[in-house]
Amino acid sequence: MEWSRFTEASRIAYFSMEIGLSQDIPTYSGGLGILAGDTIKSAADLQVPLVAVTLASRKGYFEQTIDSQGRQHEQPVNWEIATFMEQLPVRVTVPVEGHAVVVQAWLYRVKSPSGGVVPVLFLDTDVAENRPEDRAITDFLYGGDQTYRLKQEIVLGIGGARILAALGFHIFQYHMNEGHAALLTVELLNQTRNLSAATWTETLAFDRNAVVRRCIFTTHTPVPAGHDRFPYPLVQRVLGEDLIPLAQLRELGGHDELNMTSLALKMSRFVNGVAKKHGQVSRAMFPGYEIHAITNGIHPLTWASPYMVALFNRYIQGWALQPELLVRVDTIPDEQIWEAHQGAKAYLAQYIQEVTGQKIYLDILTIGFARRVASYKRNDLIFEDIERLLRLGEGRLQLIFAGKSHPHDENGKALIQRIHDFMHRLQGKITVIYLPNYNIDVAYRLLPGVDLWLNTPTRPLEASGTSGMKAALNGVPNFSVLDGWWIEGHIEGVTGWSIGAAPTELHADENSRAADATDLYDKLERVILPLYYDHPSDWVKVMKNAIGKNAYYFNTHVMMRRYVTEAYLQR
Ligand SMILES: *Cc1c(COP(=O)(O)O)cnc(C)c1O
Repeated sequence: MEWSRFTEASRIAYFSMEIGLSQDIPTYSGGLGILAGDTIKSAADLQVPLVAVTLASRKGYFEQTIDSQGRQHEQPVNWEIATFMEQLPVRVTVPVEGHAVVVQAWLYRVKSPSGGVVPVLFLDTDVAENRPEDRAITDFLYGGDQTYRLKQEIVLGIGGARILAALGFHIFQYHMNEGHAALLTVELLNQTRNLSAATWTETLAFDRNAVVRRCIFTTHTPVPAGHDRFPYPLVQRVLGEDLIPLAQLRELGGHDELNMTSLALKMSRFVNGVAKKHGQVSRAMFPGYEIHAITNGIHPLTWASPYMVALFNRYIQGWALQPELLVRVDTIPDEQIWEAHQGAKAYLAQYIQEVTGQKIYLDILTIGFARRVASYKRNDLIFEDIERLLRLGEGRLQLIFAGKSHPHDENGKALIQRIHDFMHRLQGKITVIYLPNYNIDVAYRLLPGVDLWLNTPTRPLEASGTSGMKAALNGVPNFSVLDGWWIEGHIEGVTGWSIGAAPTELHADENSRAADATDLYDKLERVILPLYYDHPSDWVKVMKNAIGKNAYYFNTHVMMRRYVTEAYLQR
């Protein structure tokens, strides 16, 4: 194997609990993992020297089915890691509950047409030497209880750092994509520990800076539940004190409990949120830290429908490796944009027919809404006033939903049921469809095929959001609450439309659900429906602007260049 190709250059190690590269490798749950996958693909395109580290998640996140009452059911995902990856001849151990757990790694190469290759290491504890319960540590992404999660984070952070060292990688920057991998900083501290120092307190004083200089942390959510916390008695039992005495860990990770976000914040020289507004919200959440903002993106070639790929290849050569060229979208004739979109819509209609048996019409305005189902996402906001929705939309609207709820999130599951209730109530008047098992493949079919992409989160809890960028790339304008990336991408009536007030708040309780719903209906009725049905050529202009003014900028190529110049190479 050409290992030297990987190990001779100094690299950035990109740690992420989940990575979503394709549906074949189901080691992701949603936005965070797909962002990680898209980031890695752009790094390969741009030949950025990166190595990625994640968990093997041998049973995936879960597969969603929904019964006739709208209840979500979860099944493990069966996939065979050896079909897709090569097992590496290296093993390390990590401490778990007072014994050593063996960690092995699988290699997947992400290859770009540019010639760039990014190795991705999938960490795995399913080896014969391990006890049965330890073999299961890398089975379920976000599964199990707090103890299980802590063990996974030991494998990811400590195991990941040790595997990289054992494989001979030279790492000059460690990038933590969310706090799950923050224990890697403890391992780095341990590796660089000044052995002659008399006490750990002195060690921290001397060597903390040596670690901080090498670490970068991206925080991804202002929702408190998104930040991992572990009680110290649990940490003491599971991690022990061999790597770091508890008293010292408390200084870094918080006094009352181990907060992985605090640990990552304390141990990183560069910290960022994932959109301008999220940077601002994060600075308010974590006073005293300098928190930058680098807006998320999507990998263009991954998310353009085959219809758009053909069109872009013909009119905008080179767009896939240089998506800024999409600024030239106006060189494409309007009719061809429309035809490509209708092609994607017909393909979606056929897919819906196969999966749910329902029919959608190609000449009716079709709104898409797909993302994780959680209370703050307000997935059901469009049903707030059902009479009004019927008055403005009967026979003129189709609604397509998709999304999983975390297995422990009862509120999220109830939301899925509510949407199904509305589906039945509106039957024959407004077609409502719920596509089960939202994943990369479903998104790839759904996003390009709808006419309008809806997003109605509680502000300011949507850190960035990326599905709207995938829609824009396919000429599908956004209709969204002003939060996350849309604050930056929105030009009213030009790239799409906003819902609700200007984004001035820093706290979720400043939202008005009723006011947002009213604005949603007003705009649909007075602006969006008339434009779609009565002024088709003006509608196509908005489609083109979504491509030329949103997608040309909100992509992982631009994002990766920003990480390189603002974080990785910045001293
Ligand atoms: C893009 C994507 C997401 C993230 O979408 P958001 O708009 O950020 O919520 C989640 N799941 C799948 C399958 C996706 O393709």
